[in-house]
Amino acid sequence: MSAVQNQTEYAVVAVEAPLTTLYHYRIPENLRGAVLPGSRVFAPFGGRKIRGFCVEVTAACPLPASRVRDLLAAGPEGEIVSAELLKLTRWAADYYHCGWGAMLAAAVPAGVRKNQQVREYFFVRRVAPTAELSAFKQTVRANAKGQLAVCDFFLRDSVEPSPEFSQSALCAELGITTATLKPLVEKKLLAVIAKKYARPPTTVITPAAKNIALTDEQQTALTQITAALDAGKFAPFLLYGITGSGKTEVYLRAMRRALDQHKTVLILVPEISLTPQTVGRFQLVAGEVVSLHSHLADSERAEAWRRLCAGEVRVVVGARSAVFSPLPHLGLIIVDEEHEHTFKQESYPRYHGRDVAVMRASAENAVIILGSATPSLESWHNARRGKYELLTLTERPGGARVPQTTVVDLAEEFREVQKSVTFSRALLRELAACLDRREQAIIFLNRRGFNTEVRCKNCGENLTCENCAISLTYHRDEKLLRCHYCDYATAPPTLCPLCGSAALQFTGTGTERAEKIIGELLPTARLLRMDSDTMSGRDAHGKALTAFAAGEYDILLGTQMVTKGFDFPRVTLVGVLAADGAINLPDFRAAEKTFQLITQVIGRAGRADKAGRAIIQAFQPEHYSVRCALGQNFDEFAQIELATREPLAYPPFGRLARIVVSGDQVTARATADEIGAALKTVAPKPGQILGPAPCVLEKLQGAYRFHLLVKAPSPTELRRILAAAAKFYAINQERLQVGVDIDPLSMM
Ligand code: ADP
Ligand code: ZN
Ligand code: ZN
Repeated sequence: MSAVQNQTEYAVVAVEAPLTTLYHYRIPENLRGAVLPGSRVFAPFGGRKIRGFCVEVTAACPLPASRVRDLLAAGPEGEIVSAELLKLTRWAADYYHCGWGAMLAAAVPAGVRKNQQVREYFFVRRVAPTAELSAFKQTVRANAKGQLAVCDFFLRDSVEPSPEFSQSALCAELGITTATLKPLVEKKLLAVIAKKYARPPTTVITPAAKNIALTDEQQTALTQITAALDAGKFAPFLLYGITGSGKTEVYLRAMRRALDQHKTVLILVPEISLTPQTVGRFQLVAGEVVSLHSHLADSERAEAWRRLCAGEVRVVVGARSAVFSPLPHLGLIIVDEEHEHTFKQESYPRYHGRDVAVMRASAENAVIILGSATPSLESWHNARRGKYELLTLTERPGGARVPQTTVVDLAEEFREVQKSVTFSRALLRELAACLDRREQAIIFLNRRGFNTEVRCKNCGENLTCENCAISLTYHRDEKLLRCHYCDYATAPPTLCPLCGSAALQFTGTGTERAEKIIGELLPTARLLRMDSDTMSGRDAHGKALTAFAAGEYDILLGTQMVTKGFDFPRVTLVGVLAADGAINLPDFRAAEKTFQLITQVIGRAGRADKAGRAIIQAFQPEHYSVRCALGQNFDEFAQIELATREPLAYPPFGRLARIVVSGDQVTARATADEIGAALKTVAPKPGQILGPAPCVLEKLQGAYRFHLLVKAPSPTELRRILAAAAKFYAINQERLQVGVDIDPLSMM
């Protein structure tokens, strides 16, 4: 053995813990060559064993040899984080003030179990041009229904190369057996491809692609994107297109182009289980896509990871953590509904999937499209000052019109009918008319449960969760009061726990009660309720949406879930029960959130040839967020909102960090005070450090919470200020926790 080989090697390890320090370990003889930069490793840590990632292999160690311990084991061979991903996660960890190892753990799926059973699955695709298949179809006998169905299926679009469809799903869809496919395979019109998977792959048969001619606006947008793809350099676009303006169509063609250039494509969507239709559209153009979401088992995630690394699949559609997907030769990133808050991870390690995506595109010379009908003001501001290129779609193609909207002033309704109502007269009238026309309606209410409040009429006590100081919601089906934060549940008391009075009043309306009201007022309506109480199964959403699309229901009633990205041609009415419920929350984004919500939900109506209507019930119909949303007037809203934020240096005009200290009341308060004092010593201007103050959600899961906001003109300046209290950020004890949130979205 030569001297070089004998030299001791050390691994620099980022451990899977909320720690920013990196640790050195000796690579023992038996792990030589198995531990590389990017390998998962197991190491001794204090008295326990910890998981982590090797980020560097080096011959130099800053510690005396006696203090360095040996690595215990290395992760599965071949499962290595690429150099690009190491760089990206390192940047993200640094930017968001969290541990590199924790960020890597969020990015990389837990390893595959050894000896996984791999099975073969079969896929079918068209391999001959459509003309040849047409010619063949002419020769098929009229009573060979199965063969004709197969021909029609593969003739429905002329996309080249033809996408692959799961053989079993295809046979089920067409009601045929594999024997029917055989003659077409023998004639080399179709091919059957075997692929190995540890888990059955997703096997969706998507509706046929429409042969669509792009509108001028779509074409202009696409031309610019294509030029950027051809140039092969980093180019960020903001695609601002009203709801139903055909943004997805632009994404699809951009993706096609990137695939033709032999590049890979990353598509981020806010919540994948809510957008099966969108995934289907991508699948139709790209063939097999990997879809990554939170409901995947570890082994499925690992399988997807492996296929991507191997280059077997070139398109990922996924939720925020998919931003870290191992895609070699990344050409295009699409962030659909870029304004959505679900892109932000609200637990450690906190990061914003969209912002990491922009960083990734820039590091890997990719094109990125941020698309929305209601862009975040951050992205809008970036477009206005030329950091992003703005592409606009102002019309719905094919003559579909933006719905006609009516606002109902709930205070006025109360005066006129002498009681508070869930459904105004105007909304009920429209609902009945919609049902008469045999069309469909979507009704949105952002509260689940039956009653949202239980109050004592005698002493005014509002029943709250013991752990969270949050109003308990009454769930009538279950006969339980539930806390929507910690899921504490208890039987409703008959007497007020404070004064013993029997005058308990159940008030406020959630989806469960709204469902019951509709049942009473419109007894013939077939209603589908969609909230996290009714949609608990793994594929509950998908099934419910399919049933609604098939016309098995007249009304879709639900929480946030019903406002996202659907395209149901028969929906001609949208009702919002309390549009401005969140408008007065102490959050500088309250108006923006209200505007986005109303605009998006209105956009669900009238997406095909039928005209749509929207009835918006609100307590403050004159508020600019409501008024601009009614007119789908983003420009005006942005103008007013930006003018409000600029003098206060709120984003996008400045940077924010939020520090939340939680724990027992006295210690948390004292620590928050100490952090505040430390930060104030380095903050040059008064008003740069806000707080500490109790959070709006003052007590959660038994812990009291205090927060501070740090404002700074730039990210660099923000870092400088935050550094003054750095020693506090790693505190993570049972009775005291400190969390730093960079570019926070939640202010609660
Ligand atoms: P968005 O993503 O902006 O909400 P979509 O891409 O889903 O909009 O388009 C809305 C509807 O309009 C879809 O049914 C789509 O097939 C259709 N569509 C899109 N572009 C065109 C076009 N150029 N001509 C006709 N129909 C189109
Ligand atoms: Zn009482
Ligand atoms: Zn609770």
